[in-house]
Amino acid sequence: MQIYGDYHTHTYYSDGKGSMEDNVKEAVSKGLKQIMISDHGFNRRIKFMKRNELDELRVEADRLSKLYNIKVFVGVEANLISAEGDIDVLPEDMKKLDFIVCGFHKIIKPKRFIDFIRVFLPNYFYEITGFTPSEYRIKKNTEIYIKMLEKNKIDILAHPNHDFAIDVPAVARKAKEVGTLFEINGRHIEWSDSDVMQMNKDRIMFILSSDAHKSEQVGDVTKCENLVKKYNIDLNCIANLKEMPHFINRKEGQA
Ligand SMILES: [Zn+2]
Ligand SMILES: [Zn+2]
Repeated sequence: MQIYGDYHTHTYYSDGKGSMEDNVKEAVSKGLKQIMISDHGFNRRIKFMKRNELDELRVEADRLSKLYNIKVFVGVEANLISAEGDIDVLPEDMKKLDFIVCGFHKIIKPKRFIDFIRVFLPNYFYEITGFTPSEYRIKKNTEIYIKMLEKNKIDILAHPNHDFAIDVPAVARKAKEVGTLFEINGRHIEWSDSDVMQMNKDRIMFILSSDAHKSEQVGDVTKCENLVKKYNIDLNCIANLKEMPHFINRKEGQA
């Protein structure tokens, strides 16, 4: 499946295995018109992009855009950091970023210690023991994600339901309401049949991303495509097939 742009890719700036230029070259070779570098953000504890690297990223993105005739955006893969739905992107960071991908990640600095107890510890428990998350946990996680979507302008909700069990259709409806694109992630798709069928009914707007950690994976949305075909997802509900998506943080004239 040919996508217009891949807006979730990693480089050396966090845990990716290639440079920005490697990702851009791969994007060009796959016929993409746009790419975003969205390295793991500021509150991650290991292999994360630092705020003081954003200017350097912008210079490189502009250089590569011109050199390879492709639009290169500077983004971040931000983290949930509190039970109130806060994330690790500050208003001043947005001046240096084009768009944000955001979701739950395990190894991060929470806002306060109490958030570690309320948000992170319970979810590690399910991960470590392999138990199915309780209904209570799913309800709590869903409430946290809904608050996060209401409070922050998130362009793409990263790998929904991965490491953080939620009521998938309920979060998807909120995402649609606020204009956040619901990601079909090329590495982690953890949805039930009924989740996808309900989202089809609700006409949720999806985006396909590779979440590439190696340059050769940029633009590879094979797993996403399999899901789209299996459930016959309406191609009009996929935001990045023919044109640049209507991102919530999109500014006038930005393309
Ligand atoms: Zn992620
Ligand atoms: Zn990622």
